[in-house]
Amino acid sequence: MKSTVPLGRIAGIQVGIHYSWFVILGLITWSLANSLLPSLNPSWDVTTLWALGLLLALSLFASVLIHELAHSIVAKARGFDVQGITLFLLGGVSSLQSDARHARDEFIISAVGPAASLLLAGLFWLFIPIIGRDSVLIMLHQERPLDTIEAALNYLWFINLLLAIFNLLPAFPLDGGRVLRSIIWALTGSYVKATRVAARGGQIAGLALVAFGVWQIFGGNHLGGIWYAIIGWFLQSTAGAGLREASMARIGLA
Ligand SMILES: [Zn+2]
Repeated sequence: MKSTVPLGRIAGIQVGIHYSWFVILGLITWSLANSLLPSLNPSWDVTTLWALGLLLALSLFASVLIHELAHSIVAKARGFDVQGITLFLLGGVSSLQSDARHARDEFIISAVGPAASLLLAGLFWLFIPIIGRDSVLIMLHQERPLDTIEAALNYLWFINLLLAIFNLLPAFPLDGGRVLRSIIWALTGSYVKATRVAARGGQIAGLALVAFGVWQIFGGNHLGGIWYAIIGWFLQSTAGAGLREASMARIGLA
């Protein structure tokens, strides 16, 4: 991905930020400060809402970065040439010089990202009672106002769980679609057939997300609906491209 601001190297892997990332950072901060956070504690003032919103939005992308680093570090350890990680409008992308040559490589490199997100979710969740805060499953049904640390920990465990679940959808080019492809590839010995099935999953999931987004827009959730529709459209079009050519980038959507 071109037009990136270099952040430097982490574990030998080049990390950069695409300009479109600043748009999503602003949008997520704005939406946290204006809807989620005031519902967790109505007495927070504007400065607290925006500062916490920005901090949580940055932590979300730190979580995405850890997810991508897991892909890239394992790929590098398995002998792949990793070009780097880019954070962009829809999340993060790890670029490899070549696609996996064996089903086992594809399986391990793809599965390790969601595994890292699940691990992070578990760690944040475990951490909440350890530091003497309440763990709530659904923050919005909390009956008393949360403090800032509770809000942050609850947001972080939940958002990492969502990252893991969403990326595990059996929809190429998401991780779950790549895991599915590697399994079919191993079972049938046909890379082409496996890619076709996984990409079809990506097209169906993408169109379903577009439909869900449109439904949300009509239900009054304009920003969220537009967001689902954009991600769905991106997913179905990259899945379609995957049908025509092997895609070398593994994409993690936030
Ligand atoms: Zn991933």
